[in-house]
Parts: sequence; structure tokens; C-alpha cells
Amino acid sequence: MVNINSHSFRKKWGQNFLIDPNIVKKIYQTINPQLTDNIIEIGPGEGALTQIILPKVNDMISIEIDPLLIEKLSNSITLKKLKIVHEDVLKTNIYDLDIGNPARVVGNIPYNITSKIIFWLIEQLDYWSDAFIMVQKEVAHRLVAQVGTKEYGRLTVVVGAYLDVEYCFTIPPTVFIPRPKVDSAFIRFSKKENAIIDDQKYIRFNKIVRTAFNQRRKMLKNSLSSWDIPDKVKEEIDFSRRPETLSIKEFAMLV
Ligand code: SAM
Repeated sequence: MVNINSHSFRKKWGQNFLIDPNIVKKIYQTINPQLTDNIIEIGPGEGALTQIILPKVNDMISIEIDPLLIEKLSNSITLKKLKIVHEDVLKTNIYDLDIGNPARVVGNIPYNITSKIIFWLIEQLDYWSDAFIMVQKEVAHRLVAQVGTKEYGRLTVVVGAYLDVEYCFTIPPTVFIPRPKVDSAFIRFSKKENAIIDDQKYIRFNKIVRTAFNQRRKMLKNSLSSWDIPDKVKEEIDFSRRPETLSIKEFAMLV
């Protein structure tokens, strides 16, 4: 725990608070909140983003794990209208939250649970319309990677089967307190009109993609040798290829 000013920053909860009004404004303008919007915020902290979004939207709920921050948020006069949930976001279901549907999701999230939060979103596609989150720049590059590049991998493929990802802008460590060691990026998720993988095939898809990328340097015929892949598919996809050369749609054909 690092003690700066009145708050004890808890590393285990990825607490890096935004202190630069220019970045907060840029985030606000990128989200472009509307008076009809219902917003779910993940990890409000001391409310840097909450304060600026809340007055501009129909309804807003913020989910925070830290009891000290819950107390601060609850006592804030400017946040009277805010619905506050004291919970681990990963244990919540959007459907059960007291907020209109579909909601928009926003959050400067704890980086140590980035993938879990992305899969939390994917598992609840019916209940949100778009999502803006902050992630490590390197993770953002993986999410938007083009086939054939070194950043293209399991995360690109599994997330890309369901979501479109837009890299909005890069954020330097200097706008946070305490400063993280890495650059960050603000990204937007929107849902693909038609998911590339049906829900019932998700588990097999996930496993095949993981197996292929676990042995990134191997040809598919070696890394996927224990998988029962129909001959018809093997006629269409050359199995001497390596995983980073397969598009998301080609991976979907393997399932
Ligand atoms: N939104 C604030 C800001 O931009 O200044 C704080 C961002 S800080 C990077 C992440 C916030 O998420 C912290 O307030 C932390 O306590 C909270 N948090 C961490 N893990 C969480 C979890 N599993 N569920 C809900 N909130 C969490």
C-alpha cells in the first residue's frame, strides 16, 4: 500500500487515479455521453470520470470494490444521483444491476483483471451497447493486431470473434497518481453485428485457439494433431501454416 495525500492506494486493486483534467475531458468527449444514456462504470475510484459523466446522462451506476472509496463516493454531494454498488465487478451480472438496458460501459479499470473484464463483457453481450475501457498500451495493440504480426494472438482472435475494437488514443503514465510503469490506451468495444462463433461453439473455439498459439512456432498439423478436424477443412486450410497467419474466420472454420 502506498500512502499519498489522504488515500491509501491499493496496488492489489490496480489503483492509479486520473489527476489530469485534460485527459478526463478527452475521455469524456470520446465517450460522448447522451442524455438518454444509462452508464455502468467499473472502478470509479474517487470519481474523476464519474463526476463529469453523471450530470450528462439519464442514469449511472458505479461498481467499486474498495470500501474506503465506497464511503467517499457515498458522502460526495456532487454524486448524490449516482447508484453505487460495493462489489467485485466480476461477481456482478449486468442483468441484475439497477440500470436500464442496454447500458454503455465505461472504466479506467484495474489492469491486472483486464482479460477477465473483457470476457465478462463477452459473456453478457445482450446487456450492453458499447464499452470504453483503459488498458495497457501493449494489450490494446494485441487487441487491434493485424493477422501475420507478432502482436496477433489468442486475445486478438477470441475477442475479435465477438467484438470490434477501436484504438482511441494513448495515455502517458504522467496523468495518474501513482504513476503506472507502462503507457495506457483508451479503447472502444462494439459488438459485431453477427458474432463469428456461435455460443455453443465458444468453448471448443477458445481451446483450439489457445492450443494453436501455445505453440506459436509450430505448424497447425503439429500443434493441432490431437484435435479431430474434418478433412474438408484441412483441404481448405493449409495445415503447414502457423497460427498467426490464420484470420479469425479461418480459425472459426476449425471448430
Ligand atoms: N476511475 C478512477 C480514476 O480514473 O481515477 C479509478 C481508476 S483505478 C485504475 C481502478 C479502480 O477500480 C479502483 O478504484 C479500484 O479500487 C477499482 N477496482 C479494482 N478491482 C475491482 C473489482 N474487481 N471490481 C470493482 N472495482 C475494482
